Amino acid sequence: PSITRGVTTEVPKVSWEDIGGLKELKKKLQQAVEWPIKHSAAFARMGISPIRGVLLHGPPGCSKTTLAKAAANAAQASFFSLSGAELYSMYVGEGEALLRNTFQRARLAAPSIIFFDEADVAAAKRGGTSSNSTTVGERLLSTLLTEMDGLEHSKGILVLAATNRPHAIDAALMRPGRFDLVLYVPPPDLEARYEILGVHTRKMKISNDVDLRRIAEDSELFTGAELEGLCREAGIVALRENISATVVCNHHFQTVKEALKTSFNKS
Ligand code: ATP
Repeated sequence: PSITRGVTTEVPKVSWEDIGGLKELKKKLQQAVEWPIKHSAAFARMGISPIRGVLLHGPPGCSKTTLAKAAANAAQASFFSLSGAELYSMYVGEGEALLRNTFQRARLAAPSIIFFDEADVAAAKRGGTSSNSTTVGERLLSTLLTEMDGLEHSKGILVLAATNRPHAIDAALMRPGRFDLVLYVPPPDLEARYEILGVHTRKMKISNDVDLRRIAEDSELFTGAELEGLCREAGIVALRENISATVVCNHHFQTVKEALKTSFNKS
């Protein structure tokens, strides 16, 4: 990946099949992201202006970033990744400059997706302070609003923002023509957990005694990230037991699951 101070550009290798569950959500994203890029002539013919912004919200570790990457991959779009927290922590003026620069680069590289993680940090509700000086947050927000409005004249650019705190985002960003689509990315239900375990054991040799459905039933409060961790750790436990091991067995999964549950209970 090429990196310009905080912005990562890469062609993501993640595909829709790498994401377990979320069938309906994937379909909605496909329509919002892939269609305007792949069928831009049809949109123009019908006089439909494509969506410029999608807000993904939901608990951490439940695939918001991964969904954005899969969408970019499916649309064969350049992927620019920004973090609200990083922008916020930069020197005076640098965050705004980086934001503007990213939109500029995305325009040149179109079709592009700008993924804006932790959006609430850089697009927080304005405080209505009495002082005349604008805060870092206010300046970032106003730059973002200007850039989003500027997309009206650019083709093939979509901003995908992610947050765990949708209510902290300034209402101005929710006006028509900005984040027109708001999607909740929920924690995985039973079927999704089963599929996520399938995704993360795809490249693993697992023994016949491993019952992924049972593990899914038994991991009710796990996020996607934790299920991924569970699979990886089970592999490590198998290697710790025998460095020449070739398969991961049920007891390896159980060892990790019990350890994780204990740490959940403690916290
Ligand atoms: P955060 O809010 O902390 O940034 P996020 O919602 O953006 O989290 P991701 O970064 O996309 O979550 O996911 C974290 C990890 O968990 C990824 O490595 C991903 O592979 C895995 N993961 C999460 N959900 C799923 C899922 N539904 N299917 C497969 N893997 C998943």
